[in-house]
Amino acid sequence: MLADDVAVVVVRVSIPIEPMLGPDSNNGGVASTATYDGLSAPFRRFRPGTMAKLYFNYSTMNAGKSTVLLQASHNYRERGMDTYLMTAALDGRAGVGKIASRIGISSDADTFTAQDDVFAMIEGRLAKGKVACVFVDEAQFLTEDQVWQLARAVDDLKVPVLAYGLRVDFQGRLFPGSAALLALADEMREVRTICECGRKATMVIRQDENGNTITEGAQVQIGGNETYVSLCRKHWREAVGT
Ligand SMILES: [Zn+2]
Repeated sequence: MLADDVAVVVVRVSIPIEPMLGPDSNNGGVASTATYDGLSAPFRRFRPGTMAKLYFNYSTMNAGKSTVLLQASHNYRERGMDTYLMTAALDGRAGVGKIASRIGISSDADTFTAQDDVFAMIEGRLAKGKVACVFVDEAQFLTEDQVWQLARAVDDLKVPVLAYGLRVDFQGRLFPGSAALLALADEMREVRTICECGRKATMVIRQDENGNTITEGAQVQIGGNETYVSLCRKHWREAVGT
């Protein structure tokens, strides 16, 4: 299931544009027309003149959301369009960070803390040059105010914003940023992964270093030895005993 979902994202946006420019093509070689016609539906929505949108791509842990984000950003950049990448500063320091995926690819990104005005960050980036799309990783850590700032960036600066984040924490509760995005996003998509039983995983458990399920603790734990396992709701309930 995971492989299929990733393939949908990766393959559809990688469709070569050359077939659109065959000898029977009647577009007179207008590159922009050909380029947009060759892109997948999500890209068509970003063509100039259409309305920018706020997207929320949500998942549970280890579903590969950072991989999907980096691939989507790469698809813009290889067509000469700039993207702006942002991610949460988990150590509390703003500055230059990294979005890294478990399969080994990474990209530099500006980091935000809970105190930052993300609208101002996007506005500042746009002042330096055109951006086709803004990508926000770890969007579950946005505050509600910051999600409104992203919505304003979409509406007023007319730039598409794709936010990627976890839907619920290890106790099955919405993260604040995800709650606000579920309320405010124009479109939502699920980045899927599977439970050990083969069903879709929508929940996550936190385990200590011995593999025991932890049911209490802070929503965000930094620098510990705990690991996270994504499960379907049934197996999550068995693991946490509810
Ligand atoms: Zn299961």
